[in-house]
Amino acid sequence: MTTWKSNIRTVVPYTPGEQPKQKVIKLNTNENPYPPSPLVGKVISSIDLDSLRKYPDPTCDNLIEALAKYHSVDKSKVFVGVGSDDVLAMSFITFFNSKLPILFPDITYSFYDVWADLFRIPYEQKLLDDDFKINIDDYSKPCGGIIIPNPNAPTGVAEPVEFFEKIVAAHPECVVIIDEAYVDFGSNSCIGLTDKYDNVIIVRTYSKSRSMAGNRIGYAIGNPELIKYLSDCKFSFNSYTMDTITLAVGVASLEDDEYFKARIADVIKTREWTKGKLAELGFSFPDSKSNFIFAKHESKDATYIFEELKKKGIYVRHFSKPERIANYLRISIGTDEEMQQLIEALRDIL
Ligand code: PMP
Repeated sequence: MTTWKSNIRTVVPYTPGEQPKQKVIKLNTNENPYPPSPLVGKVISSIDLDSLRKYPDPTCDNLIEALAKYHSVDKSKVFVGVGSDDVLAMSFITFFNSKLPILFPDITYSFYDVWADLFRIPYEQKLLDDDFKINIDDYSKPCGGIIIPNPNAPTGVAEPVEFFEKIVAAHPECVVIIDEAYVDFGSNSCIGLTDKYDNVIIVRTYSKSRSMAGNRIGYAIGNPELIKYLSDCKFSFNSYTMDTITLAVGVASLEDDEYFKARIADVIKTREWTKGKLAELGFSFPDSKSNFIFAKHESKDATYIFEELKKKGIYVRHFSKPERIANYLRISIGTDEEMQQLIEALRDIL
């Protein structure tokens, strides 16, 4: 007999990194180890409680205006959402509506296949080479859309803007999404391509370089027509996505560029120091341009290192799939002290 179960939308969900309650050295979800700008704190402490009676501005106008100014683009090119996960999910629904498969790397942000499954979007995962590089020829045939993070996650490997321009120019039949969650840590943005091509959209987040994962702010920059279609989908789903406080702190963060750039420089310096120490300990890794290092040890198993670090209160991320990355650990960059403790702990374990 047919039951209601046959009419259910089933999906295997994304598994987010652990958020332990106890105090640990948390290098498992690529958060920034530094707090957001003090200007963000000022805005939060001066919030007018009465303003919370009312719904937030559904157009998110102040934040969109501030982002447009920050990136020197027109307001009509900016869309905002509840973290880049929200912006990406909306983008999948809006832009990936073809019967042809969408394309993305086999080793990449593990939410992409989840959204594709959820929204019944056909997809093909293209194998990265042994150095975790993308083979551009894999992205040459007509398709339903393309999504690639730059730098890629969890590998940290970045490609130049010209690489993406070739892909975008070769695909007038579909939208290309470039997920720039980690771009601020040393690679080049493709935002400039949105002036030249109407089929490319860049997705960004406040969660990493702006130290504001707890606020959930993401945004997209693209041709005004793409942004309009994206907004139409968003307003057909939930009008009031971003709350009043978050909209205000999102603007404040952009006003303190000096602080923002200084903290990024701190993370990059620590990352480069950590690379040297990990190599000394027998780890190998692709050259990371992000705030994490994707590393494999020459003799010790990743699961063993992962468990031993956890016993010492140090959390890193381990992905068991696909099989060929099962021996890698993704280690987020913390403060200098945290990374020194990590290296000490690894010396004990190995
Ligand atoms: N894209 C990539 C490549 C990521 O690693 C992440 C972080 N998990 C996101 C998007 C989502 O970030 P958020 O929703 O916090 O903006």
